[in-house]
Amino acid sequence: MREVILCKYGEIVLKGLNKSYFESLLTAQIKRRLKELGTCDISTCQSVLYIEPRSDDFDFEEALRRVNTVFGISAVIRAAACEKDMEEIKKTAAEYLPRYIKGTETFKVTGKRSDKRFPFTSPEISAEVGGAVLEKVPGLKVDLYSPQRIFHVEVRENAAYLHAEGTRGAGGIPCGSAGRALLLLSGGIDSPVAGYMMAKRGAVIDALHFESFPYTSERAKEKVVSLAHILAEYTGKLNMHVISLTRIQEQMRRSVEEEYFTLLLRRSMMRLAERCARKYYCEAIVTGESLGQVASQTMQALGVTDRVVDMPVFRPCIGMDKEEIIAIARKINTFETSILPYEDCCTVFTPKHPKTRPSLDRVEEQEKRMDFSSLEDEAFANTEEITVKRY
Ligand code: ATP
Ligand code: MG
Repeated sequence: MREVILCKYGEIVLKGLNKSYFESLLTAQIKRRLKELGTCDISTCQSVLYIEPRSDDFDFEEALRRVNTVFGISAVIRAAACEKDMEEIKKTAAEYLPRYIKGTETFKVTGKRSDKRFPFTSPEISAEVGGAVLEKVPGLKVDLYSPQRIFHVEVRENAAYLHAEGTRGAGGIPCGSAGRALLLLSGGIDSPVAGYMMAKRGAVIDALHFESFPYTSERAKEKVVSLAHILAEYTGKLNMHVISLTRIQEQMRRSVEEEYFTLLLRRSMMRLAERCARKYYCEAIVTGESLGQVASQTMQALGVTDRVVDMPVFRPCIGMDKEEIIAIARKINTFETSILPYEDCCTVFTPKHPKTRPSLDRVEEQEKRMDFSSLEDEAFANTEEITVKRY
């Protein structure tokens, strides 16, 4: 008996003429993720991707874990594969399926014949295999209407596959199918979640982090690098750019009114982000902002910030409350790192009463009080580059 992994496509099935493009991206992602785990065959047929181990040392459990982080898959199923012969199928069913029966009293088998040359109909397959399981596990009962367990037998092109219910996959569409975006990655809870959500929609992610050394520490930056490593589990290797805002912030403290501090800083961050995005061929900026969360995230403040950029700014967390964002952060494993208590450049020199309903005129007037342009040139020229791989 051979054990294999079946990955059912998610949204890819809805793609018309483009389907094979998405399929090839998905296959490439899976190949990349499984590369060091031993030899396996990867093939696709009828909206299912098959992973069949070819070497004894193939790390099956790790492969299962990894495919669960690949976008484009709606369900991951561990199955037994055997020859398309009814006796073989029944033998495999008796050997393989009982392991899923613990604590179960009722079951049913759903047979499916995709290969119409197979000489048994779908209901016949169900009945034969159900009988084989019953024979092996006395006391078990068939319940066609509300069984505790459903087993599936699929007779497909190359083989027959037997399995219990699968688990939910990562969903989304394959990374690389939706362009490249620059994520503004802070050490907080929201921005890693925003990056994950864009990657789930197919975007390749670059990360940009702003530091303000020595007001922010080396440890704070290391924490952000750790977050990027965790994100890379989903996004694949990512390029991280680090820009220092120290000189800009110091100059701001001397030149502009305190209540405009955050807004001006965010506009400066956005201008730098756009430069960075263009340099690295990113077509959009992504932030972890959520409407009304803090003063700089009111509709008016976001409007004033967006005025300085000429590319789409995506904010996938905009309509979520903190609890919803935290639930995702926990799921993707960034939460525990995000809550480590380090400072962020946005929290140094924060005003006591930031403007929540800024007027663009007043903001622009304040902005003219110092030479942002040359300070930004200098900050941009000193961008630090870090390549972040999966752990
Ligand atoms: P997060 O939890 O992601 O830090 P937040 O609730 O702390 O978000 P802010 O600090 O106001 O919110 O930041 C809003 C967004 O601006 C962040 O989600 C992130 O995209 C971006 N941002 C904030 N600080 C930085 C930084 N130091 N470097 C890069 N981007 C940042
Ligand atoms: Mg933050």
